[in-house]
Amino acid sequence: MTGYEIELSGEKVVLQVVRNRRCRRMGLVMGRDGLRLTLPQSCSERQAKAFVAANESWIRKHLAERRRQVDSLPVLEDGGKIPFKGECFEVQLRREYGGVEFDGRVFRIADYPGSRRSLARWYMRQAADLLLDMLRAGRADECSAPKVFRLRDLTSRWGSCSGSGSVSLNWRLIMAPERVFEYVLLHELVHFEVNSHNRAFWQALGRILPGYKEPRQWLSRNGHILMGFPEPSKIPGMVRIVRPSS
Ligand SMILES: [Zn+2]
Repeated sequence: MTGYEIELSGEKVVLQVVRNRRCRRMGLVMGRDGLRLTLPQSCSERQAKAFVAANESWIRKHLAERRRQVDSLPVLEDGGKIPFKGECFEVQLRREYGGVEFDGRVFRIADYPGSRRSLARWYMRQAADLLLDMLRAGRADECSAPKVFRLRDLTSRWGSCSGSGSVSLNWRLIMAPERVFEYVLLHELVHFEVNSHNRAFWQALGRILPGYKEPRQWLSRNGHILMGFPEPSKIPGMVRIVRPSS
């Protein structure tokens, strides 16, 4: 067997099977193209199936992790995939659809010359909702300085803060996981206390967001993929949010 299909709670999963003369033990690897099962030459099909069954929870965990990654270029076309809050979702691009609709599983987007811009505006609105939720939940309360928050097209940066006491965030962050959005928000807030990226800065950030290294790495690994999508040119306008009073 070279491709081996298994079923996990009704979902079909294909494993690539590689037989290797030098291989002594069975092994499972999550590679770029999916799951790979390595088998010694002498291993029977029955043994292989038992090994896969015994590792079902490992397979589940890695498949779920993989789905969460934004590791391929988003494609805005019928049957393509686009990111939202760190996950990739299927796109249906049809003439008969109106605007952008998302049901938590599939994006239904009107197929017309302005569809990229419509999607960008939809992302901008979602980013505004998420930012407002975070402010209402008190995520910015560690820092009293900024009252005004803006979601803008920053084209090459994820966030910035101004001397007049406002924070700007790149709306494209809505394509990243929420913890990445939160990291950039808190990063900018800490700049009101420490201006440069010195030790004191990272220590202060670590106090309000202890696991900040992981979202920071996510952004350096995946950020370039999000920067040019849905279109590289600037989206005019911005959303201005005044911190809700508690
Ligand atoms: Zn900074």
